[in-house]
Amino acid sequence: MREVAPVQILVTGGAGFIGSHLCERLINAGEEVICLDNFFTGSRDNIAHLLDNPRFELIRHDVVEPIRLEVDQIYNLACPASPIHYQFNPVKTVEANVMGTLNSLRLAQDVGARILQASTSEVYGDPTVHPQTEAYRGNVNPIGPRACYDEGKRVAETLMMDYHRQDGVDIRIARIFNTYGPRMDEADGRVVSNFIVQTLRGEPLTLFGTGEQSRSFCYVDDLVEGLIRLMNAEGIHEPVNLGNPHEFTMLELAEQIAELFGTPSSVRFCPLPEDDPTQRCPDISRAGLLLGWAPRIELREGLQRTIADFQRRLAKAPERGGQRATARRASERQGNGEGVMPSKLFQSESPNLRT
Ligand code: NAD
Ligand code: UDP
Repeated sequence: MREVAPVQILVTGGAGFIGSHLCERLINAGEEVICLDNFFTGSRDNIAHLLDNPRFELIRHDVVEPIRLEVDQIYNLACPASPIHYQFNPVKTVEANVMGTLNSLRLAQDVGARILQASTSEVYGDPTVHPQTEAYRGNVNPIGPRACYDEGKRVAETLMMDYHRQDGVDIRIARIFNTYGPRMDEADGRVVSNFIVQTLRGEPLTLFGTGEQSRSFCYVDDLVEGLIRLMNAEGIHEPVNLGNPHEFTMLELAEQIAELFGTPSSVRFCPLPEDDPTQRCPDISRAGLLLGWAPRIELREGLQRTIADFQRRLAKAPERGGQRATARRASERQGNGEGVMPSKLFQSESPNLRT
């Protein structure tokens, strides 16, 4: 028997990739979770296994509109995270970040809830400081195609700090670096999901630019652990980087994935998208010091788990039947314009995963 009453927790964007893992962890910890989502990039499939739990509730709602709910904690994740999806309707992306965060903050203020904002390494833009500490103020192009997301997230941080300073709202800001894992949308256009899905479909890997740009990939379970620790730590109102500091070039990532499949992959070089950051790597000293947090899952192990999940899902639904209509339109538009999304459906045998 649990001795303390469950915490009532709102997760906006809870049907998305990270949100669904977070909901699951919170439910498993005995909390009561309200998952709020408009299903732009999220999916019922992601949370189907939670729907029968009496401590789990799903609300279809757009964070751009206000809502009143009695909760103790709010994780504000509602926003498309992938470039093809956040650039599909950039004005809506700004709204989700600005109005969505404003509405979540007003709710937190009204009901006295603690609120955690899912911010991003994109607030650092194309960084000139490496690795990025929280003190770095960033190098963002305010009028580029990524600005709707980057600047939207920066304003969201501003709102968080101002609601804290002005009204005493108890805020947390997590600056999340590239995260990957099971339940990534196959049409999300992210590099990890693209490379895995392309390999499974026997297609060449689409490498943007020279492939020498770097990213640091954090496995989703590690990230969720960091988010929960940050939410429940006392008195941390400054932003905290959460990510894996092991940095890889996209060429190295392609090699790792090919090695795990045990098959040589061909590569198709594609133009580098505008304003694509050349390097990104978190300094996670603050998270270590304040939260005792560091990622534990190495890329190889995380990729193996992610590949296994994609193999299972693609074998079940080779025709992208479960994919959200809006997200599908977004990825197809990108595919037509840039030639970067896989257009063929799953045809070839799944290569065996080498473990
Ligand atoms: P995702 O696209 O899988 O999830 C976002 C969720 O928000 C989806 O379920 C979507 O339907 C929902 N959503 C979008 N707009 C909404 C709106 N207006 N109202 C209600 N729901 C809405 O993305 P994710 O990777 O799970 O990212 C979750 C959060 O973490 C985002 O805020 C993202 O910016 C942040 N983040 C993610 C990464 C990453 O690498 N995945 C990195 C940095 C920050
Ligand atoms: N990328 C790539 N091939 C792809 C998708 C992405 O080479 O099929 C590159 C992209 O240009 C970027 C990096 O991989 O440099 C990470 O892209 P992603 O969209 O996953 O994350 P973000 O750019 O938001 O960090």
